Amino acid sequence: MAEHLFNRAAIIGPGLIGSSLARALRKAGVAKSIIGFDRDPAIAARAMEIGVIDSAADGLAAATKDADLIVVSTPVGAIAELCTDINKHASTGALIIDVGSVKGAVADAAATLRDDIHFVPCHPVAGTEQSGPDAGFAELFDDRWCIITPLDRDDEPYKVAVEKAKAMWERIGAHVEFMDAAHHDLALAVTSHLPHLIAFTLVGAADDVESVAQAEVVKYSAGGFRDFTRIAASDPVMWRDVFLKNREAVLEVLGRFSEELALMQRAIRWGDGDALERAFTRGRSLRRAIVEAGQETEKPNFGRDKKGH
Ligand code: NAP
Repeated sequence: MAEHLFNRAAIIGPGLIGSSLARALRKAGVAKSIIGFDRDPAIAARAMEIGVIDSAADGLAAATKDADLIVVSTPVGAIAELCTDINKHASTGALIIDVGSVKGAVADAAATLRDDIHFVPCHPVAGTEQSGPDAGFAELFDDRWCIITPLDRDDEPYKVAVEKAKAMWERIGAHVEFMDAAHHDLALAVTSHLPHLIAFTLVGAADDVESVAQAEVVKYSAGGFRDFTRIAASDPVMWRDVFLKNREAVLEVLGRFSEELALMQRAIRWGDGDALERAFTRGRSLRRAIVEAGQETEKPNFGRDKKGH
C-alpha cells in the first residue's frame, strides 16, 4: 500500500460527506489515524461506533491541535465561525480543506487565517440526498470530479499544500479540476443549485394543488415527479446555506431560467409545437452527453441500489 499522506486527519462534522471521506481516507491508507468532532456529540459517537473515525474529540481544539489534515465537512454557513477557532488551534503547516458546495464565501472565511496554515477550498461534486454518518460510503468519490478553488496566495508552502490536497483526492479515486471560486459558484448554480431549487419548489407546488389528492401524487409519481422528490429530500440546512451563500449566482441563473420558462409558457399558449420540440431535443442531447461522459447510468433508478446509494 502507498504511504500515508497524513498522520492524523480531523473530520469536523462527520456526516454524509465527512464520513465518506473518512472511510475513503482509511480505505486508501491516506491517513494514519482519524479523529472526529461534531457539535452534536451523539453524531461523533455514532461515527466512532461504526468505525468511521478512531476517536471522538470533545471540542474543536482537541480535534485540530495535532492534526496535519483538517476537513471541514459542515454546512457552508458554519465555516466562517469554525475558521476563527481553527485559526487559534491548528498546528503550523496543517492543511485545511472544506467540502462545501459554495466556494466564494469559503474563500472569504479562509482569507482570515494565519499564513502558516493552509486552507485549500474543495468541492467534491458527489453526494446523495441522505445525511449523517450512516449514509456515507467509501466509494462516493470514485470517478467523480472534485473542484479545487485555491486561495489567492502564491507562497511556496501554500502551493505545496494545494498539490497535497490534489494528491489526496486522486488517491481516493476522484478527478481534480482547478477553478476560480466565482466561476465555480456560477457553474454549480447551473448544474446543482438551480435544479435543487426547482425540485424543492415543484414538490411544494404539488402539495398546494388541492384537487389532486396526496395519494394520487404518490401513486402516479413514476411519471417524473418521483425523480424530483429524490432531489427535494436533500438536507434543508445544507441547502438553506447554499442559497444564502451563493445568492448572486443563483439569482443570475434563476433569471435566465424564468425567461426560458416564459418562452415555454408562450409556446404552449400559442400551440407552437416547433418551439417545444426544439427545446426538448436540446434537453435530450444534453442528457446523452452526461451518460456518455460516465457521470450517470441509463438505469431508471439513476443507477442506485436499494440502499439509496
Ligand atoms: P450532513 O450529513 O448533515 O453532515 C454535516 C455535519 O456537520 C452534521 O453532523 C452537523 O451536525 C455537523 N455540523 C454542523 N455545524 C457544525 C459545527 N459548527 N461544528 C461541528 N459540526 C457541525 O451534511 P453533508 O451532506 O455531509 O454536507 C456537508 C457539506 O458537504 C456541506 O457544506 C455541503 O454543502 C457539502 N456537500 C454536500 C453534498 C451532498 O450531496 N450532500 C455534496 C457535495 C458537497 P448537526 O446534524 O447537528 O447539524
